[in-house]
Amino acid sequence: MDLLLHTCCGPCATYSTLYLAQKKFSPTMYYYNPNIHPYKEWEKRKDSLQSFAGLKQLPLIIEEEYELSEFLQRTVFHEHERCGFCYQMRLEKTALKAKELGFAWFGTTLLISPYQNRELICSIGRKLAQELNLSFCDEDLRPGFRKSQQLAREFELYRQGYCGCIYSERDRYYKSP
Ligand code: SF4
Repeated sequence: MDLLLHTCCGPCATYSTLYLAQKKFSPTMYYYNPNIHPYKEWEKRKDSLQSFAGLKQLPLIIEEEYELSEFLQRTVFHEHERCGFCYQMRLEKTALKAKELGFAWFGTTLLISPYQNRELICSIGRKLAQELNLSFCDEDLRPGFRKSQQLAREFELYRQGYCGCIYSERDRYYKSP
C-alpha cells in the first residue's frame, strides 16, 4: 500500500520505514517541517534525512519552501497549545500532498516519539483523512523509538537535541525561576 509518510528527521525515519514496510506499506517520505528553528537546524535535519534516503534507496519528497512565518503566525498567542497547531499544519500539508499525488494513505513519523501526543496526532490525522477521503496510518511506532536511535548512530545520522521549534530549543536550556 502506497503511503505518503510525513517525516521529521533522519533518525525517526530509520525504524519507521523498516516497520511500515513489514506491515506491507511502501512509504514515500515527505519532509515538511516549518516548525524547525533556526533555518540551519531545518537544513541539518533535511540533509540527514537525504543521507538516509540515499543509503536505503527510499523515495523522498522535500518541501523546499521554509514556511517559518506561517508556523509562527499560527502559534503566536497559543504557545501553550502550540503542538496541536504544529501537528495540524504538518499533517494537513501531508494529506493535501497525498491527495494531489494520488496516495490512498498518509501518516507521520511523529508517531515514533514517546514525547509527542499520540492521541492528538491520531485525532487530527483521522479527521483530515475523513475530510479528504484518505486513510490515516495510525500504527504505534513508539516501541521502536530506542531502536531508531541505535540505527541513527549506526548510519551516522545527525541526532537533534530538541523537538524543533524555538520554544522547545529554549526549554532545552532554560528553566523559569
Ligand atoms: S514542541 Fe515540537 S511538536 Fe510542539 S510545537 Fe514545538 S516543534 Fe512542534
